[in-house]
Amino acid sequence: MAKPSPLAICYRIRPLDLALHLFEVTLTIASPATEGQVLCLPAWIPGSYMIREFARNIVQIRAESGGKPVRLKKLDKHSWLAQPCAGPLVLTYQVYAWDLSVRTAHLDQTHGFFNGTSVFLQVQGQEARPHVVDILPPEGEAFAAWRVATALPELKAKRYGFGTYVAANYDELIDHPVEMGEFALLRFRAHGVPHEMVITGRVPNLDRARLCADLSKICEAQIALFEPVSKKAPMQRYVFMTLAVGDGYGGLEHRASTALICARADLPVKGQAEMSEGYRGFLGLCSHEYFHTWNIKRIKPAAFAPYMLDRENYTSLLWLFEGFTSYYDDLVLVRTGLIDEAAYLKLIAKTINGVMRGSGRLKQSVADSSFDAWTKYYRQDENATNAVVSYYTKGSLVALLLDLTIRQQTRGRKSLDDVMRALWQRFGRDFYAEGSKAGQGVGEAELESLFDEVTGLHLKPIFDRAVRGTQDLSLESVLSDFGVEMSNKRKESKLALGIRTAREANDCKVASVFEGGVAHQAGLSAGDVLVALDGLRVTASNLDTLLNRYRNGDTIGVHAFRRDELMRFTVVAKPDSAPQFSLEAQAKPLAAARMRSAWLRPDQ
Ligand SMILES: [Zn+2]
Repeated sequence: MAKPSPLAICYRIRPLDLALHLFEVTLTIASPATEGQVLCLPAWIPGSYMIREFARNIVQIRAESGGKPVRLKKLDKHSWLAQPCAGPLVLTYQVYAWDLSVRTAHLDQTHGFFNGTSVFLQVQGQEARPHVVDILPPEGEAFAAWRVATALPELKAKRYGFGTYVAANYDELIDHPVEMGEFALLRFRAHGVPHEMVITGRVPNLDRARLCADLSKICEAQIALFEPVSKKAPMQRYVFMTLAVGDGYGGLEHRASTALICARADLPVKGQAEMSEGYRGFLGLCSHEYFHTWNIKRIKPAAFAPYMLDRENYTSLLWLFEGFTSYYDDLVLVRTGLIDEAAYLKLIAKTINGVMRGSGRLKQSVADSSFDAWTKYYRQDENATNAVVSYYTKGSLVALLLDLTIRQQTRGRKSLDDVMRALWQRFGRDFYAEGSKAGQGVGEAELESLFDEVTGLHLKPIFDRAVRGTQDLSLESVLSDFGVEMSNKRKESKLALGIRTAREANDCKVASVFEGGVAHQAGLSAGDVLVALDGLRVTASNLDTLLNRYRNGDTIGVHAFRRDELMRFTVVAKPDSAPQFSLEAQAKPLAAARMRSAWLRPDQ
């Protein structure tokens, strides 16, 4: 866009006080609604399904028009009504930005970061107009080297410079987070499209060349997956915004960028060529968020088209949008050769073991887990393992089951890739374009008929069982068709109490109790602080060592504090019931090994 209309919504944002973590935002509305202008801040950020009430971080707000104050009436926790005025109406407010996550905003002497959902008031009724943002640096020579990273197009700014940026509408504005500071900047191309990774936080000896080479493989593979012929990326430019910290992990997807947090130890070091677990995890995270560029930022559930930002948006399809994204994130790593087949099968086994660990999987389907994400998956408590199933991990196994079933039953003619491409063509490609297909989301019923249409199979029984049902998925036989042997290698000799523990100073606290485990049977509860086993002190680090001295069937006297009361429990020692599935590729039969290659290394 060259020139926004004079009726554009105009914001100016500047770091006001770094030590108090305050951004100041000035919003100018050329023609406010004649009956009074309603303004509101979103209650949640797309991609993170929890009501967060961002308006609670607005510290001060005032309005004026033509130099005279305009009265603001608070309508509810995140909306204001500005009294009628001729315009332009100018609002000035401060936003407290001190949440070091990808979801909100953060500001101090080291950098600034914000999501539009945290800082830009929505001008009700004028969301479709162009939105212009003037981004200013903090005052002072000390910040002269600060730059700006965002995938928002520049209107009057140099690339990476402070100045004016523009979005076609409010939805586009809040889908482009902004980073400012002295970040490291890495650039590469993927099928001709400029990609950048900006890294905030000190990372000595970063292997930039390796990171760029690995990321470009991931990005190109995904572009080619959705557009095998044209290799056309869905965006003009893409920015990975990474905050490297001592310890952290997380990401949030956007249509042309992603905000990531990682541990700096996960980033590659010059001169080290091996694939560490941390770096593999970081590439998996990048791959995951990048896959969302198609799967949820353009192919969307009907409930998100458009988003209702003032309340929960209910969909039963997060198993597809998060689960399938989780399936493809690691699959792309093996398909591009960044990890080998054995490493990939280990990752699937880890997911299987994670899903099989808790009894929540037998009570909640992935469709229900998706629907209740707002109050359950995103608000997990000590009982989550016994009540909730993850639509990420089980959803990725549903994708695996469907992919292998489709490949097996069509003798390799079709796969889940074909279904993803059909979803892309029907719903995704033109989501942000003009025309009849723009803005259309995927309905729950039409999704399943599309699977059948693309594959020529009748997959309803699988959806009934795997998506709407709570029985365990039967992966063993379908994996064996691909020459992958699945076996449970539980060590019968290892004893365990059937709890998760958390360190609290030097105490060992029960974080959660697995249903059916020996701790549950003995009456121990989450929150109990273990004191002693048969009179020997339990510390934060010696529980396994103490348990090692017992044998299957032994009786153990356990002392624990519940709040401030000492209690005694009798536990009967039993082997660890945690599943220990492992997957191993078999060289024979040859036909199965060939099917496996077509699945994991289709380009070879
Ligand atoms: Zn995701």
